[in-house]
Amino acid sequence: RTVYVNGHFVPENEAEISVFDRGFLFADAIYEVTAVLNGRMVGFDGHMARLRRSLRELEMGLPTSDQRLREIHLELIDKNALQEGLVYMQVSRGAADRDFAYPAPGTPASLVMFTQEKSIIDSPVAERGLKIASLPDMRWSRRDIKTVQLLYPSMAKMEAKKRGADDAWLVESGLVTEGTSSNAWIVDNDNTLVTRELSRALLHGITRATVMALANSHDMKVEERGFTIKEAQNAREAFVTSSTALVHPVVAIDERPVGDGTPGPFARELRRLYIEASLNSAD
Ligand code: PMP
Repeated sequence: RTVYVNGHFVPENEAEISVFDRGFLFADAIYEVTAVLNGRMVGFDGHMARLRRSLRELEMGLPTSDQRLREIHLELIDKNALQEGLVYMQVSRGAADRDFAYPAPGTPASLVMFTQEKSIIDSPVAERGLKIASLPDMRWSRRDIKTVQLLYPSMAKMEAKKRGADDAWLVESGLVTEGTSSNAWIVDNDNTLVTRELSRALLHGITRATVMALANSHDMKVEERGFTIKEAQNAREAFVTSSTALVHPVVAIDERPVGDGTPGPFARELRRLYIEASLNSAD
């Protein structure tokens, strides 16, 4: 693979990043993952807007323009002949002597990007659905900022696997916040799509926003509110959204089947609409 590090396109085994990089030492870094379908990026502008928001919230500078970031993405896709998969972009506060205080203004940010091949449209999970385990949400309280502090989500995913599930839904004060790397949805007994309202408690998913817009334009009802695990277990359907899962049905939660225990019609239809819209409007 060819990867991008601080201004250079290099073979992955020649890429270097400082041991003093604050992303490495403090998880003082943010990231975005943009899906690539048919060689084209999906929802790039949304990812860019969220990146700028994360940068602002952390008072982190990045001199590179959106236009240049887009060009680097496109060049990486081209150099790696990527048809389907993702582009990962990470911005850290750069390298400086180890100190909790931020380094002096003017310390250059580190910018890293790489591609990863992944089969997204043909996904076995879309056919069989996900089994979910519920776990307490023990992450920090600014989950709206997309930082690389991903240890707890990793631990939760491993714990879910130990319990025979595929992934975890995280619960705080009795309500589901989101999945370890996805937003959580249910379809209630009134056929209303329900997903938690935006706040600092969860990531403002780009796919969540797109699916919400698709639902609205296809006369599906959407309600933004929190829900409990019990409500999800008793819902008609459940599913998750993320850039690389698109829409994945949830068929069981804590070993209880959701609906009839197979992928439901709303999840299937939204996945189809999402793929159709993405292939027609990809950047
Ligand atoms: N929540 C979390 C915690 C995530 O890591 C992700 C994946 N980036 C999402 C939600 C889904 O966000 P998006 O649709 O922007 O990929």
